[in-house]
Order: sequence, then structure tokens, then C-alpha cells
Amino acid sequence: MIWREFSYHLLYFNPDLPTQNFQRRFDQFTWKKNSAHLQAWKSGKTGIPIVDAGMRELWQSGYMHNRVRMIVASFLTKNLNIDWRDGRAWFHDTLLDADEANNSASWQWVAGSGADAAPFFRIFNPVTQASKFDPNGTYIRKWVPELAKLDNKWIIRPWEAPKEILAAAGIEIGKTYPEPLVDLKTSRQKALDRYSATKSN
Ligand SMILES: Cc1cc2nc3c(=O)[nH]c(=O)nc-3n(C[C@H](O)[C@H](O)[C@H](O)COP(=O)(O)OP(=O)(O)OC[C@H]3O[C@@H](n4cnc5c(N)ncnc54)[C@H](O)[C@@H]3O)c2cc1C
Repeated sequence: MIWREFSYHLLYFNPDLPTQNFQRRFDQFTWKKNSAHLQAWKSGKTGIPIVDAGMRELWQSGYMHNRVRMIVASFLTKNLNIDWRDGRAWFHDTLLDADEANNSASWQWVAGSGADAAPFFRIFNPVTQASKFDPNGTYIRKWVPELAKLDNKWIIRPWEAPKEILAAAGIEIGKTYPEPLVDLKTSRQKALDRYSATKSN
């Protein structure tokens, strides 16, 4: 409830919160225009199971738990380097609880441009997050059924699974389930470099 009140306070005193970076130094930031990646994110086909589970849940039910909202938002802004405003707009269209204040403040919090932004170096690792918060893969199995036969170890990172395990589960990466859009490690490092440059501007 306190987060909600805080977001409303921010929007009241900053009516352009849905469209403008709260911290104006982020205006220098260059986002990637990649409509194929944005579309893959929206439709839950990024190749990262916890992200895809969340995005498919959102599309099919109009809801997503706060933890998963943070994971998918971090993936869009940090790993894919796509503008938080594109993510905000999609959430606005699809969330049943879409709310100008909470949505805008939360996207800016994740992107790093907000009032109380998470430190820029805090980039959610979707594999670690999935192993912590979906340890039995129940959530992923529900929303990404094509991976359901994988065991808990590989369902969070199927692209690293041995060929025979994938074959036994009826999965062909790149055919029955997408390759990851980006490498998590290198895209994380690129995000850190971009954010460091913004910091010194
Ligand atoms: C990227 C992103 C976008 C979001 N967009 C929205 C949005 O459009 N609309 C929206 O209402 N919330 C949004 N949130 C905040 C949060 O995810 C939801 O409020 C929460 O999931 C609601 O679940 P609940 O009703 O079970 O809340 P509970 O956890 O039971 O909390 C009770 C109430 O407190 C408020 N609340 C709880 N957590 C938050 C939070 N982190 N921020 C603000 N208010 C909170 C809500 O009004 C909620 O109904 C967003 C979060 C992120 C990370």
C-alpha cells in the first residue's frame, strides 16, 4: 500500500511520469529500436522460460505477480535494451490492474530512471530468479507447456540442456521453443556499460 501511495504522490507532482524519465540524465540514453525483439517479448517467445511464462500469463489472464513483473521488465530494459516506455505501454494495454501511477513508477524503478530507482547494477538474472521463486518449475510448466517434460534443473535454462535430455522431452531449441534472443551474460555486461556511461553524463 505504501508503494501505491508513493507512486500516486510521484504522478501527482510529476504528471509526465508516464512519458518522461524522472531522472532527466536518462534522456541521453539510447534505446534500441528492435520491433522483432519487442514482439517476441510481448508474445512470450524470448527463449527465456520465466520471462515467457510471465508474458503469456499476462496475455491470457491480464495478471502477473509483482516478482515476475520485475523480471520481465528488467529483461526488456536491460538485456534487450528496449525503452521502458514500450513496456509500460504494453502493460497498460494488457494488465487488468493497469494503473498510470503504479505502472509508470514501477517501470522507471526497474529501468533505473525513477525517483527511487534500483541501483543500475541490479540486473535481474532470470535463471537465478526462476530457481529461487519457481524452484519446482510449476509456474513455467503451466504457461510454457512445451517445456513441461524437462526436469527442474533444465526447465529454467533449456538452451544449455544436453541434446539427449532435450530429445527425450520432445524439444528442439529453435523449432519447438525459441533460442534465447540474447546471451544473458553479454547483454548484462553491455547494460552495465551503458548505465555507467549515463552515470557520468
Ligand atoms: C513493471 C511493473 C509494472 C506494474 N504495473 C502496475 C500497474 O499497472 N498497476 C498496479 O496496480 N500495480 C502495478 N505494479 C505493482 C504491483 O505489481 C501490483 O500492484 C501487485 O502485483 C498487485 O498485486 P496484489 O493486488 O496481489 O497486491 P498485494 O501484494 O496484495 O498488495 C495490496 C495492494 O498494494 C498495492 N501494491 C502492492 N505492491 C505494489 C507495488 N510494488 N507497487 C505499487 N503498489 C503495490 C496494490 O494496490 C495492491 O493491490 C507494477 C509493478 C511492476 C514491477
